[in-house]
Amino acid sequence: YTGKSENQEIFDKVKEIKVGEIKSIPVVVDEKTSVYDSIVSMFLNDVGTIFVISGGYLTGVVSRKDFIKSCIGGTDINKVPVGIIMTRMPNIVLAFEDETVLDAAKKIIEHEVDSLPIVEKEIIKGKEYFRVIGRISKTNITRLFIEITNI
Ligand code: ADP
Repeated sequence: YTGKSENQEIFDKVKEIKVGEIKSIPVVVDEKTSVYDSIVSMFLNDVGTIFVISGGYLTGVVSRKDFIKSCIGGTDINKVPVGIIMTRMPNIVLAFEDETVLDAAKKIIEHEVDSLPIVEKEIIKGKEYFRVIGRISKTNITRLFIEITNI
């Protein structure tokens, strides 16, 4: 007997849940995709954040508000590529599969974003590149919160 209460044991287990266990499928477009087509992709996939790649690696993130801003700002959304309006690396807050959901949740709150790309790091000629393998959002974390209370 550990001397810990049952509640404490459940809480300890919850704190150990990893990002990889609750990740969802990322929605990804290439940097060259037009703002218009990226907006269509956001609607079709029913997400609030799209990850942007070039040559297969993460270069940026684009959110609902980024699209609204470009539309009211008079951007020619059929011509301008999403790479122009996105938030760009290295300013992207990342998550890794083996980090805890608690740590990812803290990043989301601290940086005031809705979701994080889950990435795998590759080093090519001494430079870091990130392959997008998933997505963790406020929705995943809220779902986990509900599941936990049903244990
Ligand atoms: P919205 O503002 O559309 O509701 P967010 O709060 O997620 O969505 O995005 C706010 C700003 O932060 C946007 O400019 C977006 O490009 C950027 N952003 C979103 N996710 C990330 C992230 N993981 N890392 C860095 N910046 C992000």
